[in-house]
Amino acid sequence: MIGSNLVTKHMQAYAGNYTKGRSRYSKITEITVHHCAGVMSIDDLGRLWQRVGREGSSHYGVSGTQIGQYVSEDDIAWTNSHWASNCRAVTIETSNSGGAPNWPVADDTLQTLIKLVADIAKRNGLHPLVLGKTLTWHSMYAATACPGPYLKGKLQYIVDEANKLNDVTFDAVTPGRNCIVAITGADGGNLTGGDISYYLTQWVRNSGLDPDTAIVTRDGLVTVGPLSNGDQILLKKYSYEQGLGWQFSEYIETPEEPAEPDEPAGDDIEALHAELEASKAEAQALRNSLASVTAERDTALQQAREAGEKAEAATERAEHAEAKIKAAQAALEG
Ligand SMILES: [Zn+2]
Repeated sequence: MIGSNLVTKHMQAYAGNYTKGRSRYSKITEITVHHCAGVMSIDDLGRLWQRVGREGSSHYGVSGTQIGQYVSEDDIAWTNSHWASNCRAVTIETSNSGGAPNWPVADDTLQTLIKLVADIAKRNGLHPLVLGKTLTWHSMYAATACPGPYLKGKLQYIVDEANKLNDVTFDAVTPGRNCIVAITGADGGNLTGGDISYYLTQWVRNSGLDPDTAIVTRDGLVTVGPLSNGDQILLKKYSYEQGLGWQFSEYIETPEEPAEPDEPAGDDIEALHAELEASKAEAQALRNSLASVTAERDTALQQAREAGEKAEAATERAEHAEAKIKAAQAALEG
């Protein structure tokens, strides 16, 4: 039976009370709300639709916190007294808590109805619901008091509350930051451990996030991130397709980087290489400079030696000349 995971009991209607094979006639384009015109349990309703010759049925029945399903959403239930709308509609019978003229409905029944309406809308692409278009009621199609004054007065509220359940907003998430999110079941309740690990694996894989950064911390809570632009949309899309809730919980502050890493990072090695090259170039320049200064010194020494030799030769000539002068003076005196 195709239908909601929220169903608490399945009771297949008698085959003569509905039409097999909706797809031959129509797609699902609306949800029709009815009241039972009586205080009924989901079993009471199931027995009614199982009665041979009843020639009536509904997909679902809601009473208190209980949800019964009697006809698959793939098949056409006979509820709206109107063939064309029956072909399009998933129909729900709602138990009253009292009788005419107001036909009241208990609060817990109303809240269960809202959750079921939201679930049907989500799975069948009817979100956001619009009253009178995708959320309809029996008296739109037939001359009947159904769904009664009380429930009719609550229809816009049902639409608004169901839409709220299906609205998932991500405004609170800042790209680039880690955060904790809660993954919940379609009913907003906690998933079991097995479901969490299954969905988490799929969820992370489909989101394109690094699996190492998404960690289950406790029931239904995971850390994801760092998120970048578009991640939220992927998460939302996948969660929506899987019928999962996705709720922002809180940010996690990213731990600060250690001041001095033990191992030099790639950038540091490059910097060291550059420094080494600079040192080599400096050493070469110093060697060139030394060679130049040494050559200068050698030239100066050579010049000094030559000057010394010239000075010696000049001294020798001077001594020689002085000797000649002395000899000449001696000749004059003698
Ligand atoms: Zn009705």
